[in-house]
Amino acid sequence: MTASAPITQDVLTLPRKLPEGGKINIVGLTREKLREALIAAGTPEKQAKMRLGQIWQWVYHFGLRNFAEMTNLSKDYRAFLAEHFEISIPEVVSRQVSADGTRKYLVRIAGGHEVETVYIPEENRGTLCISSQVGCTLTCSFCHTGTQKLVRNLTAGEIVGQVMLARDDLGEWPKPGEPKDEARLVSNVVLMGMGEPLYNFDNVRDAMKVVMDNEGLTLSRRRITLSTSGIVPEIAKTAEEIGCLLAVSFHATTDEVRDKLVPVNKKWNIETLLNTLRDYPRLSNSERITFEYVMLKGVNDSDADARRLVKLIAGIPAKINLIPFNEWPGAPYQRSDWERIEAFADIVYKAGYASPIRTPRGEDIMAACGQLKSATERARKSAKEIASEAGL
Ligand code: SAH
Ligand code: SF4
Repeated sequence: MTASAPITQDVLTLPRKLPEGGKINIVGLTREKLREALIAAGTPEKQAKMRLGQIWQWVYHFGLRNFAEMTNLSKDYRAFLAEHFEISIPEVVSRQVSADGTRKYLVRIAGGHEVETVYIPEENRGTLCISSQVGCTLTCSFCHTGTQKLVRNLTAGEIVGQVMLARDDLGEWPKPGEPKDEARLVSNVVLMGMGEPLYNFDNVRDAMKVVMDNEGLTLSRRRITLSTSGIVPEIAKTAEEIGCLLAVSFHATTDEVRDKLVPVNKKWNIETLLNTLRDYPRLSNSERITFEYVMLKGVNDSDADARRLVKLIAGIPAKINLIPFNEWPGAPYQRSDWERIEAFADIVYKAGYASPIRTPRGEDIMAACGQLKSATERARKSAKEIASEAGL
């Protein structure tokens, strides 16, 4: 069949606009970049390290947005900072809370574009699902985000900012002088929102450096999972430069089916992908890879598929995360029946792999996997309108 979707759709890619006024946003700069920026703006080199440490703590440990409140800096230095820098994160346009406690934030970034961020509370942890792009250039046929035509990479600040806005909403910043609260509300981050994180590698890497820094947000690299559709050339770099856990949107056991579900498979097929994945645990010093597998009725959910799957991944330390398909308006697939999902899980489990079935969360607010899409923006404007507003 040749009717499968192209790898990359005809998207409208917007140039990133610098913020007006020329102030540099501190949020999203790695320690090295912030140090350089402080010096370039006039901080004496000898003081830079100390100032950097102080600012870092205010911004990422206490969640301050205002230089005036940074009481361990001189008044003059606070004024200097305010003149050259800003501490800005994306704005929350709306917040929906699901019956199951899941929170979905519609977030507005520079240029008026919107992405979604989802907070999923569980018994022993709280996972924040963040976006790395507005829309996605890839066209996985079961994914709502892939139908969105407007695409722009998020800046590192916009990626880190999603963690910060969730902490704002959850009231999770410690107060100066108060003891550190050990139980974290945002304890894990997954790059599983809108976009393909490995098509925005540098910004994702810088953002994760900030999030993983051992002062401030301090999430360990084992609490961060990056999900990719299989951008092979960037996978080894992810191991070496980020070192977080990796999830792969696998979804099929033959190239014929995967070409249709995840069209980027035409560029890097199953064999090429698996060869690269074999090296990931060693390169990143992590235990295992998560294989995500969306359960689509009659498409990829047979016993034969389950058996092929465990054969394919033999030798790779792995966990298989089965995701019941989440429907969205106009979706061309149906969710596999529950008994089918369980039978599939059983085969995988008996072959020696953990095979959790991902319980859909926040379905009532369209916050589940693959349902994200800034519907508000799409409903309001056509691509043409957006283009003309962006001055294209
Ligand atoms: N672009 C990245 C990360 C975002 S998607 C990637 O593709 O890996 C997070 C996961 O949700 C991916 O495994 C994706 O394939 C899956 N997904 C997408 N649409 C879905 C849907 N409608 N139902 C269930 N899972 C879906
Ligand atoms: Fe993009 Fe991931 Fe959706 Fe595919 S599944 S279209 S890579 S967001």
